[in-house]
Amino acid sequence: MSDVTFKEIADLIQKHLEERGWEHNPPRGLATSIALEASELLEHYQWSDKPVGNKDELAGELADIFIYAFQFAQVNNIDIPAAITKKLAEAAKKYPAEKFKGKDMAQQRAAWIEAKLNHKKQGL
Ligand SMILES: [Mg+2]
Repeated sequence: MSDVTFKEIADLIQKHLEERGWEHNPPRGLATSIALEASELLEHYQWSDKPVGNKDELAGELADIFIYAFQFAQVNNIDIPAAITKKLAEAAKKYPAEKFKGKDMAQQRAAWIEAKLNHKKQGL
């Protein structure tokens, strides 16, 4: 993994956008772009678990998703590391590790359904 920090990447993307006057893209357009780029990544796996294309092409599509995600966060004043940390804490609570690790697929599926139902009951 690269030593470039999250902040440095965010700054690079912002600089790239500002140099082109693209820093005010609307949230709807950015959310649409995230989904479109995710679809481009998925297209590599359309007919096979083995992707069409090489690692660089897959990395390029993944980078497109992240670049739009950074822009979406910027426009909506979302702190991505804070959002990820919060979401992982919520997921850890929703999906307790001891109910999944070392369990067979049927047990994991049952635990996943139970977690989903409990989550809905709690109105989360
Ligand atoms: Mg793309």
